[in-house]
Amino acid sequence: MKRVGAHVSAAGGVENAPLNAQAIGAKAFALFTKNQRQWVAKPLTSKSITAFKANLETAGIAPEHVLPHDSYLINLGHPEEAGLEKSRHAFIDELERCAQLGLPLLNFHPGAHLRKISEEESLNRVAESINIALDKTRGVTAVIENTAGQGSTLGYAFEHLAHIIDRVEDKSRVGVCLDTCHTFVAGYDMRTRETCEQTFAEFERIVGFSYLRGMHLNDSKPALGSRVDRHHSLGHGELGLEVFRYIMNDDRFEEIPMVLETIDETRWPEEIAMLYGFAAR
Ligand SMILES: [Zn+2]
Ligand SMILES: [Zn+2]
Repeated sequence: MKRVGAHVSAAGGVENAPLNAQAIGAKAFALFTKNQRQWVAKPLTSKSITAFKANLETAGIAPEHVLPHDSYLINLGHPEEAGLEKSRHAFIDELERCAQLGLPLLNFHPGAHLRKISEEESLNRVAESINIALDKTRGVTAVIENTAGQGSTLGYAFEHLAHIIDRVEDKSRVGVCLDTCHTFVAGYDMRTRETCEQTFAEFERIVGFSYLRGMHLNDSKPALGSRVDRHHSLGHGELGLEVFRYIMNDDRFEEIPMVLETIDETRWPEEIAMLYGFAAR
């Protein structure tokens, strides 16, 4: 079965996120477990944790269909010692918050070299950061998201994801999340059935579907290969609807959280219904 939802608000407490997901007809969702633009957050209270688990059950959504996203400030490939240390601490905190909520996945962007070290050196730091974090935590898988490749960010090429995974010691606790907008602006076409076949065959060859733990379903404002990260509502951007029809009818995308991060949240209920409509045919 396909598990489609959106990155919903956790305003007022993480426990509100499952109910926000349920309200839009979602069978999966993403959330921030803390303010994504701040380094430090108050620990989750036991009251909030208990309410989150209860609301998740009420919403009929399984923990493995929730894809928490970490803070945008974290850079696990940081070229400087202080920034790297700060990021590693914050990442461990994010993993611990997921574990407290009973959630087995944490989605994050690999990082950026900030033009101070090479791409390869920075990717090696990301892998080392993951090893350190997995060693210090239990039960949560680190899910690397592919990126648009804007500025000096890593992770726009499938080879980057493979490079990191290769160097992670515990392969059972590392995975990837593909964002359709990022994939497209990074230069992988998916506008037709044929180009979807090609792009996902390349993903299988370089990374492997066995590592796929989630999807971000977004159309794209910028053009193919532009390396600019701007999401759009499904069917309103340069990517178009064919890739979503393809994904909803392909078994390789079963039982993983597939999350909308499209720009107009008032459209989420209809976007989710449209996606399930694709699968019904
Ligand atoms: Zn994304
Ligand atoms: Zn994006």
